[in-house]
Amino acid sequence: AYWPSSAKNDSLIVAENLSIKYAPELPAVLQDVSFSLKAGERIGLLGRTGSGKSTLAMSILRFTDPSSGRILIDGIDISKIGVEDLRSRLTFIPQDATLFSGTLRENLDPFDEHDDAACLEVLYRVQMISRSSDASASTSREHSVVASVDVSRAASITGIEREDTADTLSTTLTDVDAKTTVSLDTQVSAGGTNFSQGQRQLIALARALLRRSSIVVLDEATSSVDFKTDAKIQTTIREEFTDSLLLTIAHRLKTVIDYDRLLVLDKGKLVEFDTPLRL
Ligand code: ATP
Ligand code: MG
Repeated sequence: AYWPSSAKNDSLIVAENLSIKYAPELPAVLQDVSFSLKAGERIGLLGRTGSGKSTLAMSILRFTDPSSGRILIDGIDISKIGVEDLRSRLTFIPQDATLFSGTLRENLDPFDEHDDAACLEVLYRVQMISRSSDASASTSREHSVVASVDVSRAASITGIEREDTADTLSTTLTDVDAKTTVSLDTQVSAGGTNFSQGQRQLIALARALLRRSSIVVLDEATSSVDFKTDAKIQTTIREEFTDSLLLTIAHRLKTVIDYDRLLVLDKGKLVEFDTPLRL
């Protein structure tokens, strides 16, 4: 059977008394954290800077190992699974997503498992590219893609930047880098430094859409991501990962206000765990 299963499961990710130290002499960054997350649930993870949010996210992918306690995914203690195997089955979009040197296509589909049309489709769905350009008519690499935003689509999304008026939203969203073009053949420099932090997250999201895993962990990029790109990331998350367990680390409550539950970390301890509206 495929692991982790996407079937109904009230304890798809379980943390048991998880404590993490970066070095034996350093204080614990996570202290005795326990929780259980259901399949398909949307979980927001909040907390001040330095509270341990990224550490917790990374521990699910075994980028940090617990000093005590354990994490189980779909019933299996992840310390018993090979790191590469584990990471290939989950989707993690880190706070500072990096790309590797190669083409955009290779970054999206490293094992060449999808056709060009599928690669372009996910770039459209994360709003890196516009479907209305001639790219839609043709999947030819040469004619790909103008970066622009479908304003009406973005503005129709509920839950994003609620306090912004539709006017503000469309002004912000039409102020696009319309002269930028990308194609599947666009060369990505090592680390992805020819893309912004937010664009790198969008590309990582597009890769995640091709992969379709049952667990998605998103460590929202910090303030350096502009409103427009942040809105695209949140839009994609809301519309595309409806069947996955989604753990989103957010810097603002409004990002996750309509999620199913919130985890709040305070100095390495889990202090709240409730639906956002009751917080
Ligand atoms: P932010 O909101 O700024 O992203 P965060 O909640 O994600 O913060 P973490 O990055 O998990 O916080 O860091 C938690 C604590 O662990 C901080 O005190 C940080 O300095 C420390 N820390 C993080 N990474 C390391 C590391 N590689 N080595 C030593 N200490 C680290
Ligand atoms: Mg962080």
